[in-house]
Amino acid sequence: MNLFKKVIEIYQEYYICLHCLGRMFSLLATDTTNYDRGKSLLLAMTMENHRVYLSRDENHEEAIANLKNLAEKVMYNPARSVLDKEGIDYNKISLSEKCYLCDDIFSNVPTYAKIASDSLGNHEFKDFLVGTALDSQIVNREDSFKAQFNLLDSESFKNHFNREVGKELSLVLLKPSEFAKPDITVIYTLGFASSEVNLIVRSTYIKGRYNKFIRGIPQTHWDCRACKGKGCESCNFSGKQYKTSVEELINPEFIKEAKAEGSKFHGAGREDIDVKMLGQGRPFVLELINPRIRTLDLEKIQKKVNKNNKRKVKITNLVNSSKEQVKNLKFNAENTKKIYRALTSSNEDVTKEKFETVLNQLKIAFENQKIQQRTPNRVSHRRADKIREKKIFQIEGKFIKPKVFEFIVEAQGGTYIKEIIHGDDGRTTPSFTEIFGFPIECKKLDVLKIY
Ligand SMILES: [Zn+2]
Ligand SMILES: [Zn+2]
Repeated sequence: MNLFKKVIEIYQEYYICLHCLGRMFSLLATDTTNYDRGKSLLLAMTMENHRVYLSRDENHEEAIANLKNLAEKVMYNPARSVLDKEGIDYNKISLSEKCYLCDDIFSNVPTYAKIASDSLGNHEFKDFLVGTALDSQIVNREDSFKAQFNLLDSESFKNHFNREVGKELSLVLLKPSEFAKPDITVIYTLGFASSEVNLIVRSTYIKGRYNKFIRGIPQTHWDCRACKGKGCESCNFSGKQYKTSVEELINPEFIKEAKAEGSKFHGAGREDIDVKMLGQGRPFVLELINPRIRTLDLEKIQKKVNKNNKRKVKITNLVNSSKEQVKNLKFNAENTKKIYRALTSSNEDVTKEKFETVLNQLKIAFENQKIQQRTPNRVSHRRADKIREKKIFQIEGKFIKPKVFEFIVEAQGGTYIKEIIHGDDGRTTPSFTEIFGFPIECKKLDVLKIY
């Protein structure tokens, strides 16, 4: 059907704004806006009907009806002045009707942009993206409208809104909109009756290494086992299983500087609570959630954190990082070598000579060998029970006293070191206990190096 006829049909029943009119034919002609499409359509229609009127041919009456339609229903000024000029009477009352499709939302794009730019005011960001969630009323009305007039070249409500508000925001904020990984996504929830704006702020990530110089603190915050974090008598209403953690000693300074809502600590593996993390430290990535500040003075934060945690925890090598690095961190943790120092005690007295002999047997059994480790008893409540194969690279040993020895073990990431020593009731094999022939216990364990 002729484009003009379709427009007349639409306006015989509904009032829609110029944005929506153009939008219904958005796939026709490029390099223009929906608003200009709508405006041009009305002007071309007015011209064509004026031509037919002047030609006085058989469609003369229909042309007058069309011009009246445009003058009355659309209050289109060029049509009105044609009728005025030709001395044709029409209803001059201005209707205060709102667009049937968008409820005049598209005529108020600057207002919508303003609401967003106000809420973006105290955020640091380099780019943004606009997204929309629509009320079902808008969607349903739009669908049946398109079906009724068989409109096959239209653009969706969302696309139009996102683009137009995006353009406006870009001008107001002097920042580009970005599809791939915007710092902030502005989400409009639109309905005919109400609308609201929410911001989704992309997390920022800081990579570094940490040392843990004391025993007894876990890497990350643990919810109290009894109350699952709600707070109870056994945790003194703190909701925590342990008073503090590496995470909790490190993150406050970052959260404060980034004006973030919270943080997530991602470690490259973890050491046990009673294990020190020495040497160059363990890699970690700190994710800052909902940060208002994205550019941080890392040197300043590092100094502050280290000053606050003297002799407990230290962080080094801070750099900006990314979500991808978190994945790498987890993946690499299994594939890196680590060096541990274990202070062990034995049930029976061992002479220095006997120790040297057993040490040689340990080297033969472990060095560059794969060992079988079933999930240790002590973690079986939170990890799947399965057998893991881990590689041990090197073992050095030192006789200290007849019942006390020190070992340096170089092993693949993810190896349970304490279990290699005591054997975990045969769940780890071979083990030091197995080779010594009587129980060997790990008294103290430190991580010396993570490759
Ligand atoms: Zn509209
Ligand atoms: Zn509790």
